[in-house]
Amino acid sequence: MNKTITIAHGNGGEENNELITSIFYKHFKNDILSKSEDAAVLGVPHDSIVMTTDSFTVSPLFFPGGDIGKLAVCGTCNDIAMMGAQPKYLTCSVIIEEGFSTRELEKIVRSMKKELELNNAMIVSGDTKVVPKGSVDKLFINTTGIGEIMQPGISAHNLKEGMRVIVSRDIGRHGAAIFAAREGITLESSLETDCASLYPQVKALIDVGVKIVAMRDATRGGVAAVLNEWAKTSEVCIEIEEEKIPVSEEVRGICEMLGFEAVNLANEGTFVLAILPEDEHKAIEVLQQFNTDATAIGTVTHQHDGKVILNSSWGTKRFLDLPTGELLPRIC
Ligand code: MG
Repeated sequence: MNKTITIAHGNGGEENNELITSIFYKHFKNDILSKSEDAAVLGVPHDSIVMTTDSFTVSPLFFPGGDIGKLAVCGTCNDIAMMGAQPKYLTCSVIIEEGFSTRELEKIVRSMKKELELNNAMIVSGDTKVVPKGSVDKLFINTTGIGEIMQPGISAHNLKEGMRVIVSRDIGRHGAAIFAAREGITLESSLETDCASLYPQVKALIDVGVKIVAMRDATRGGVAAVLNEWAKTSEVCIEIEEEKIPVSEEVRGICEMLGFEAVNLANEGTFVLAILPEDEHKAIEVLQQFNTDATAIGTVTHQHDGKVILNSSWGTKRFLDLPTGELLPRIC
């Protein structure tokens, strides 16, 4: 195998086969993929599946706590997990710039494999395109995934007065870490992305009998976007206790430096959960086994339907709106 990817590696012929076999098949090997048909035959009952897709263009490709490969599996598997489903089958399409290092490509594929194992999921189909230098910035990945529902009925439409809103850990790490990596900001304490597979946490919640009302990973637009979408979709007000929102010192530092708000920053392994008040204790107990910062941050009311209100500890109130304008590009 060459040290770098050449246009011939996307030719559909000999070199293309060599690339697929020596990197992708080697790491993604499973019975369905090995059949190498035009499309994969899946053993999933048709009335219990969810499907999602996502493209990944993050820059830089490698960042503290992860890389584009880890992100490409987490992103798609997490969207499946957020529907109360178990990720099962993924596709993997890559667009590679001519001249890209095969060693780095394999490193990325290895990260994908590791994350697939955490989800008990597999790549069953894929595609590789190589484009001339300058046509794409190094490497883009698209993953599409199918999952099998474990707990049906989870929906952004379900929020009702009195329900509690929980966040699974401290927020804003991914956006802050990518920004710091891109700008070469070195911090005294190491700031890493939160990028992680959420399926194990969702399974643990379902296993102890928590009835999940709504659940969403707080990716682009951050926690602010999730809460606003829920308030609008369910026609309720979500009141958040501002000082309950967990934010690390490192993320606070980046926010102050740049004038960002942590609630608007992207996460890749942090989710927001709406549940019945009687499930609060149980849910937090489970989530704290994964991250001790998991906590309830607010309640569903009818104070101002369609809006999110931030209550401060000294009694002031303000609306938390959807983030607008140019946020950080190419964070995922
Ligand atoms: Mg999502």
